[in-house]
Amino acid sequence: MPHPIVRFAPSPTGAIHIGNARTALLNFLHSKKHHGEFILRFDDTDAERSKEEYAQAIEVDLAWLGIVPDRVLRQSQRIALYESAAKKLRAAGRLYPCYETAEELERKRRRQQARGQPPVYDRAALALSAEDKARLEAEGRRPHWRFLLERRIVRWDDLIRGESHIDSASLSDPVLIREDGTFLYTLPSVVDDLDCKVTAIIRGEDHVTNTAVQIELFEALAGAGAAPGFGHHNLLSSVSGEGLSKRTGALSIGGLRDAGLESLAVAAAAVLIGSSLPLHPVVSLAELASILDFKQLSRTQTRFDPAELAALSARTLHGLGFEAVRDRLGAHEIVGYKAEPFWLAVRGNLSVFLDVVDWWRVVEGEIAPSAPEPGDQAFLKDAAAALPQEPFDEATWSVWINVLKERTGRKGRALFHPLRLALTGQENGPELAALLPLIGRFRASARLCGRVA
Ligand code: GLU
Repeated sequence: MPHPIVRFAPSPTGAIHIGNARTALLNFLHSKKHHGEFILRFDDTDAERSKEEYAQAIEVDLAWLGIVPDRVLRQSQRIALYESAAKKLRAAGRLYPCYETAEELERKRRRQQARGQPPVYDRAALALSAEDKARLEAEGRRPHWRFLLERRIVRWDDLIRGESHIDSASLSDPVLIREDGTFLYTLPSVVDDLDCKVTAIIRGEDHVTNTAVQIELFEALAGAGAAPGFGHHNLLSSVSGEGLSKRTGALSIGGLRDAGLESLAVAAAAVLIGSSLPLHPVVSLAELASILDFKQLSRTQTRFDPAELAALSARTLHGLGFEAVRDRLGAHEIVGYKAEPFWLAVRGNLSVFLDVVDWWRVVEGEIAPSAPEPGDQAFLKDAAAALPQEPFDEATWSVWINVLKERTGRKGRALFHPLRLALTGQENGPELAALLPLIGRFRASARLCGRVA
């Protein structure tokens, strides 16, 4: 495959959510898998709704997911390109001025509805003479500009959905330029995709209709065959079935990050949920890229269950090697010779990464003893006295336990539970055989005797 050039083109009008992450990742992983280029393009021609802080937050969220763009573009800085494309379309007779107000258009739509006709713009503006236009402008009206569709069957071989077609006669000629001269998304997107030599547009299936319009635009601007490839993925919805929106903040990437979820798990879930590939932990985006297969994506909207993500996130942690987390542990001052055996001992018990802080306190800090059951006090004292001499290693635990079994006749829960509670202050946790050498003889002995240590 020739090196693909792809782009993720959010409008910076809110925080990106898991559905946007799906689009971003499908593009990014596709480009990385085939040694291509990934462009982040901010579709910020809507000056009122677009905000620089949203753009910055989107870059932060993408970086957290592991997505670093090769280029970043802002449409608001590229208006001259769109102006010249509009000029070209006008010259070719493909862009025409219309003067209807929103109310007039709404009335037309209602009339069409009453007659059982599809709500397609009737192209009345095409019949306006130069005098008509002059009169309307003299009344203070400013035109908006529509793209004249060819009213034909537009076909493409969708990278995800396969052979696709739309009859552009079923669509209204789209408005490309608003009354105030600003551009709607449709034309700038095509102009940028041409300018950046984008080879594949991978986006949500809510854009399928746009694709028919945009293929006509690609051809009007750059000739037959100028359109890149297209792939439309199924959308994710909330668990109760509502669509996701940048405005509501539901399932936002920032929210998932703040909830302590693993970015790799969020990435894996964003890509694998709603596909026939099994949802499973991955150790890197490269692994995710290697299994990505557009044809495995489902065709139907998929509910995204945060509980499924939380479980995947925990399983992801359980499989991470020490090197993958060394820096993150260091950020919590979990360093030194104990850091690696500590990680290997506790990772299988973590729900979220931050749980390491509590477990580190168990091995390296002070914990208050939980009061033992009255019947266990003497047993714990004996256990302290029976602790083997240092150095401790992974075998120390079973040596010690065998002695205790023999001396006290205890077994099962009666043997293990008081020891766990005294040594860790917790009802459950990692294997004590792995923790004991990390806790060390001094602390273990003090805790067994009920002292803070
Ligand atoms: N700004 C558009 C959106 O966020 C981009 C769609 C596209 O990828 O072309 O939906």
